[in-house]
Amino acid sequence: MKAETISVGTELLLGEITDTNATHISQQLAAIGVDLYYRHNVGDNLQRLTGVLRTALSRSDVIVLSGGLGPTADDITRDGIAGITGRPLRRDAAAVEHLKRFFAERGRVPTESNFKQCEAPEGGKLLPNTCGTAPGLFVEHEGAWIFAIPGPPPEMREMLRLSVLPRLVERATAEGGGRLYSRVLRLADIGESNVANLLEDVIEGQTDPTIALYASPGEVKIRLAGKSPDEAAATQRLDAMEALLRERLGAHVYALDEDVMETAVGKLLRERNATLATAESCTGGLLASRVTDISGSSDYFLGGVVSYANEAKIGVLGVPAGVIEEHGAVSEPCARAMAEGVRRCMGADWGVATTGIAGPTGGTPEKPVGLVYMAVAGPGGTICQEQTWPGTRDQFKQRVTQMALNLLRKQIIADGE
Ligand code: AMP
Ligand code: MG
Repeated sequence: MKAETISVGTELLLGEITDTNATHISQQLAAIGVDLYYRHNVGDNLQRLTGVLRTALSRSDVIVLSGGLGPTADDITRDGIAGITGRPLRRDAAAVEHLKRFFAERGRVPTESNFKQCEAPEGGKLLPNTCGTAPGLFVEHEGAWIFAIPGPPPEMREMLRLSVLPRLVERATAEGGGRLYSRVLRLADIGESNVANLLEDVIEGQTDPTIALYASPGEVKIRLAGKSPDEAAATQRLDAMEALLRERLGAHVYALDEDVMETAVGKLLRERNATLATAESCTGGLLASRVTDISGSSDYFLGGVVSYANEAKIGVLGVPAGVIEEHGAVSEPCARAMAEGVRRCMGADWGVATTGIAGPTGGTPEKPVGLVYMAVAGPGGTICQEQTWPGTRDQFKQRVTQMALNLLRKQIIADGE
């Protein structure tokens, strides 16, 4: 099944907003094994939308449009589909009632233009919108399926999940191609080329599942994927490949699929009934923020200190003034003292600290921009890692928190061995 997406909206072409809808739709189509061959951006212009639709209809089985379904004159998706398929718009009585009720419940009166949203091309269906007013459209035309879903991302995601993907899965199953089963292994502390070396023979011999490597900031991902009509058989093949890769890659594999580093660390702490406290300088609270992005983190996260000034490191965390005088705030002894200090003052099992020079100014030849020390204090002692990562402040903070969390993860695992 070949698909293309069309994101409708002049604001996308002006670069005022990013086309996150297309990214999400692409990911979801890939996840169910639908081949996406083209992605389009088109402005709020009926003639140009019609041109893109004509091309898409000439070569694809499925077209997913997002945006341009609102009630105003620049919302042209509905007219575009009606025009290209030669199906005049018809008003749906149930949708009219639903809209009137929706407005009445909010003490408002719909205008004539609101009722535009209740129209579907003849023979087409309106798709329910569970979080907004504009219904979507589903039109089957000469073997091709056209879906139009609203632009606002939460509405788009829900309608895709509830009304689009299930229909596509059903069609793929009926056509006998099976659906795609996939799994992502997330790796830390190792580069893409090293992973490729370690897995050379496995990658060369791949058949089902296929293996693809992706490098993204702070991690490498390995995606395993296979199409099958049989879920149990596909899962068994994914399990076997995952086991083989884990054997080769050991503790570099830190999580699967959507789980991020903070999820992995949270699971380890929870399993061990252990607690965590953070002391941050150069990451300015991002470490604590990432830890608390995980629902239920209050079970193991006791708190964090953003000790930016030397006085805060000394006064709050108990870093000895002499350590800072002798070695500076960006130093291994200071990072160690921060981790131990926060562990002590919060009464936590684990303390993690970061101190470094984010830049772009403030470096010296001995201590350049990008230098950072990350320390982990735990039941078995304290370790510290030095690293130099030049880059933007944002990249620096992301990398440092990723590495600090990974250091913690490895220490927690090692502690139990
Ligand atoms: P529309 O359905 O065209 O009226 O779009 C409504 C709003 O949804 C826009 O103003 C954007 O904020 C958002 N939106 C529309 N299309 C996209 C897209 N492709 N990606 C992300 N946001 C979008
Ligand atoms: Mg629009």
